[in-house]
Amino acid sequence: MYQRLRAHAGPWDMIVVGGGATGAGVAIDGATRGYDVLLLEQSDFGKGTSSRSTKLVHGGVRYLEQGNVSLVMEALKERGLLLQNAPHLVRNLGFVVPNYDWWEAPFYGIGLKLYNLLAGKYGFGASRILSKEETLERLPTLNTEGLRGGVIYFDGQFDDSRLLINLVATAYEQGAVLLNYAPVTDVTRDGEGFVDGVVVRDMETGEEFHAQGKVVVNATGPFCDDLRRKADPSVQPMIAPSQGIHLVFDASFLSGDSAIMVPHTSDGRVMFAIPWHGHTLVGTTDTPIPAATLEPVALEQEIEFILSTASLYLAKKPVRGDVLSVFAGIRPLVRSGDSGNTAALSRDHTIRIENSGLVTICGGKWTTYRHMAEDCVNQAATLARLPEKPCVTRHLNVHGFHPGSDKFGHLSVYGSDAPGVQSLGLAEPLHPALPYTGAEVVWAVRHEMARTLEDVLARRTRALFLNARAAIEMAPAVAHLCARELERSSQWETDQVQSFTETARNYLP
Ligand SMILES: Cc1cc2nc3c(=O)[nH]c(=O)nc-3n(C[C@H](O)[C@H](O)[C@H](O)COP(=O)(O)OP(=O)(O)OC[C@H]3O[C@@H](n4cnc5c(N)ncnc54)[C@H](O)[C@@H]3O)c2cc1C
Repeated sequence: MYQRLRAHAGPWDMIVVGGGATGAGVAIDGATRGYDVLLLEQSDFGKGTSSRSTKLVHGGVRYLEQGNVSLVMEALKERGLLLQNAPHLVRNLGFVVPNYDWWEAPFYGIGLKLYNLLAGKYGFGASRILSKEETLERLPTLNTEGLRGGVIYFDGQFDDSRLLINLVATAYEQGAVLLNYAPVTDVTRDGEGFVDGVVVRDMETGEEFHAQGKVVVNATGPFCDDLRRKADPSVQPMIAPSQGIHLVFDASFLSGDSAIMVPHTSDGRVMFAIPWHGHTLVGTTDTPIPAATLEPVALEQEIEFILSTASLYLAKKPVRGDVLSVFAGIRPLVRSGDSGNTAALSRDHTIRIENSGLVTICGGKWTTYRHMAEDCVNQAATLARLPEKPCVTRHLNVHGFHPGSDKFGHLSVYGSDAPGVQSLGLAEPLHPALPYTGAEVVWAVRHEMARTLEDVLARRTRALFLNARAAIEMAPAVAHLCARELERSSQWETDQVQSFTETARNYLP
């Protein structure tokens, strides 16, 4: 990657700051139109919100209830495109809304029929009302007290950070240069005060360098106000950060292959319990917070809220000791006036062209990253007077594209890379509680730009998100493999294990 960087002469057509879903999407879109693109991520790709989602590729049933039909239709179309373009990472999953009151079946039955109708040719399957017996067949571990039946609908599920790593690879294959551990510390301006580049620090060497760009895209998600202020200290903040957490349990809490969707929790939100990588993922919350941080920590009341809500619907009531991992993420919600309630803020994306010429894109959701990128590159290219080129990402295969990757078992998320991972040998799991092998560690370092122990345990594999204690226990063995691949010292290994363990403690409830 650094070779490509050094070989580059003159200004970049487009510099993208932020290596989450939004930035990676913009990099792919720009590169496939033939523009010269440089993407800079301050930490690891996906360290921000994009590895901390509910893992749904969805239209958002809740937004339908709020009457936001166009948002739902757009997201449902993107859901269909993503399933076509990354079939190794997105799957169709049945979601059951359990009914405990007489009115719920017809009410949700009609709403969810509409949800499927709006998807048109991108539909994932017809929703229908289930009897009590059918509901329990799908969800054998549901609380049966007062249960009348359910409504089933279909939506997408994915692995967020694996998709991100594959998007980075896709952008690279299309000619973009993408660096992790390269924070943008400042922006530079031309004689007229317009942003014309960025100052970047290489975290590994400590060196700073200047990159010039015809346009700079700020895709730093919940952090976007920091860069906006660097470009123009007088701007008003546009983000109202809100935290959402998830708890992860073992698979016994949700046996069967369907998810539970609770349309109205006691705080008026939606809650999901989803089978994910052989575990049960439950979330989420919506807690306004003062400022975004890279490693947000779940609040006590958020953990209690999810445990108590899950206990209403699951036959086996989860308690604190059952939690294998708890992770928090920050929504980059765009402010709309002075509402104190972030659940009501816009989930739509916003593109703002500042007086300084900085282009900021934020909001939206993972599901719509491609469409957001298309909008953003249209605007950025016009602003930078780049030659007009059409967007081509609608039917662009994502790196790893493989429609039949299920046959690779837990390596299915690697898609067409799975045989390459298998060819490395080292096929023994590194921990009895998780399937991850030494081959995946080596692959992550050699082919997926993993630079630290945490990159491997949190975002190339999902060990930290599935079982924090197991991740801590396997850390020394993984650090050893990483050190060998990266030619690092035994002191590096020790430091990595220590710093990872400190971070991972926040994932233990
Ligand atoms: C709890 C929760 C659940 C969600 N669930 C879903 C879901 O199920 N489905 C769905 O579609 N969407 C979901 N979303 C929304 C989705 O996750 C986000 O919209 C999306 O990940 C935002 O991506 P982003 O790239 O804009 O931000 P981020 O992923 O946060 O990326 C921004 C990046 O910018 C980097 N950065 C910041 N400052 C600098 C700098 N100075 N220099 C270089 N880099 C910098 C950060 O390190 C970070 O990696 C959820 C969000 C939350 C919080």
